[in-house]
Amino acid sequence: MAQVQFNSITKTYPNGFEALKPTNFTIKEGEFAVLVGPSGCGKSTLLRMVAGLEDITAGDLSIGTRVVNHVDPADRDIAMVFQNYALYPHMTVRKNIGYGLKNRGTAKSEIARKVDEAAAMLNLTPYLESKPSQLSGGQRQRVAMGRAIVRDPALFLFDEPLSNLDAKLRNQMRIEIKALQRRLGVTSIYVTHDQVEAMTMADRIIVMNEGRVEQIGTPAQVYHNPATTFVASFMGAPPMNLLPAVVDGGQVMLEGVSFGPAPHRGKVIAGIRPEDFSPDPEGDLTIHVDLVEELGAHRLLHGKLGEEAVTVHVANESVAQTGPLRVGVKPDALCLFDAVEGNRI
Ligand code: ATP
Repeated sequence: MAQVQFNSITKTYPNGFEALKPTNFTIKEGEFAVLVGPSGCGKSTLLRMVAGLEDITAGDLSIGTRVVNHVDPADRDIAMVFQNYALYPHMTVRKNIGYGLKNRGTAKSEIARKVDEAAAMLNLTPYLESKPSQLSGGQRQRVAMGRAIVRDPALFLFDEPLSNLDAKLRNQMRIEIKALQRRLGVTSIYVTHDQVEAMTMADRIIVMNEGRVEQIGTPAQVYHNPATTFVASFMGAPPMNLLPAVVDGGQVMLEGVSFGPAPHRGKVIAGIRPEDFSPDPEGDLTIHVDLVEELGAHRLLHGKLGEEAVTVHVANESVAQTGPLRVGVKPDALCLFDAVEGNRI
């Protein structure tokens, strides 16, 4: 186990592209940290720098107490699990899992013991003598996990490991990986562009955008207290409604309705999660619903609040028709953002 420290780390590619602006944060020992952000935000670049597959342009990267900027990938005490599994097709599952140990010169009996233990943990025992081509996608991903586990690393790195699996298997595997990480207690950095994976797996989420860390926090902090409009709209599906409002006479005014005091003046953006509107005949706001999306356990109502598009999440036993709908906003549910920079007020 080890903590990982990013100290003013930057990355500029040889073509001059600045993929990572100065970045400072620490992943704690035993923590499951998820790096999330849209395509091109720099999350793979960051992970590859930790793995030693990409040079660090400036700053110090520490794993445990050691600065590893110039340490060879093989000597960083890490194990990486990739999206494409990177299994050897001609080797059995047993050989694939034990490969890294054999390379290190570990005794045969010790390799067999560790492989058996990992296989049991991953429900792979019946497949130890099979070849990867005889396995399902989920089983292949477990073999890749097994190979990482037997190495007893200080740090696991995961690069979108579930993106080649179908939705159902992905849900199952994310629970398995999370449970396994809890059990082993190994510090882990997990890269994904899937915000549901980030929410469900992370102890802490690191949200990235355009080479910058926008926010670091627990899933609940990032969801309920987004630091920027980017985080508000990236985390959550459907995203937070972001509505133009003003602070007038010390009061936040949205569609002519007062939502309490705010220490600011002028234009702001009011963020309201779809589930934080509640249908209420006495409600102050009227939404004109023009589409009802039926999702089984709940419904999404899409419509307009004034000129602005809004989405409301309601339980399946409530409202299901188009037309005007009176709603209230749950107490403390309003997030205010600066209208220019998008930062939280
Ligand atoms: P994705 O989810 O699509 O993998 P990402 O967030 O992992 O995206 P990176 O792969 O880290 O993004 O890339 C970040 C940025 O750096 C992108 O704009 C990419 O085009 C650029 N980039 C990546 N590798 C290089 C390179 N070798 N040379 C120049 N630019 C690069």
